[in-house]
Amino acid sequence: MPYAIISDIHANLEALDVVLADIAARQPDAVVCLGDFVGYGPDPVACVERVRSQLRAAVLGNHDVAALEARDTVAAKFNPFAYEAVVWTRRQLTDPVRRYLEGLPLRATLDTALCVHGSVRDPIEEYIFDVATARASFDAAPFALCLVGHTHVPAVFTQAGEAVVGEPLLPGQSLRLQSDRRYIINVGSVGQPRDGDPRAAYLWLDTAEQIATLVRLEYPISQTQQKVLAAGLPAMLAERLAVGR
Ligand code: ZN
Repeated sequence: MPYAIISDIHANLEALDVVLADIAARQPDAVVCLGDFVGYGPDPVACVERVRSQLRAAVLGNHDVAALEARDTVAAKFNPFAYEAVVWTRRQLTDPVRRYLEGLPLRATLDTALCVHGSVRDPIEEYIFDVATARASFDAAPFALCLVGHTHVPAVFTQAGEAVVGEPLLPGQSLRLQSDRRYIINVGSVGQPRDGDPRAAYLWLDTAEQIATLVRLEYPISQTQQKVLAAGLPAMLAERLAVGR
């Protein structure tokens, strides 16, 4: 089955619309979102309303939790820009959007793949940037494939026997999944890429062919930047979109 996996939309409606149009043209069997619908960006409500009916499954991200919590627990660990954005986001959320986010689970499955926002060990807050952290997630559950977001950096961690290696996942490069290996794939970010490529990212996963391909798409960044500034959000959150950092 062909699936589209999106993550870290971060209230960026222009990026989301480009991604959803590309996905609709390719007609996958299902679309899944790995969390962080909101935070940083200027369109939290519109993004949730746009995408929710299109998702077979979704999980909760740390920015979603931060936007919902009444007292700062997750948000207390945010940098000042992210914190300012979460305070702003809390004021925007409508009751239906709040209820939708509150109903999201920490883990979901797609076929046999495990879906989490951060890591298997800590679905909300842990970042899998290195082999040691990836190994902890491989040890935490018996999955063959785990799909994650959270770092905004597309990557693949492969376990073969005792060895775990990590590599960047580059656009257009097809990753053939082998049955004697285990994988953690980071699908990148729709709305705030941080790998130096400002284009929106999502993963195309064909479970029949066992092939995963990262898709990158240009979107009208300046439109989102103008909205960030008009909303009174920190200018840094507009600037970083153009450089993908
Ligand atoms: Zn995120």
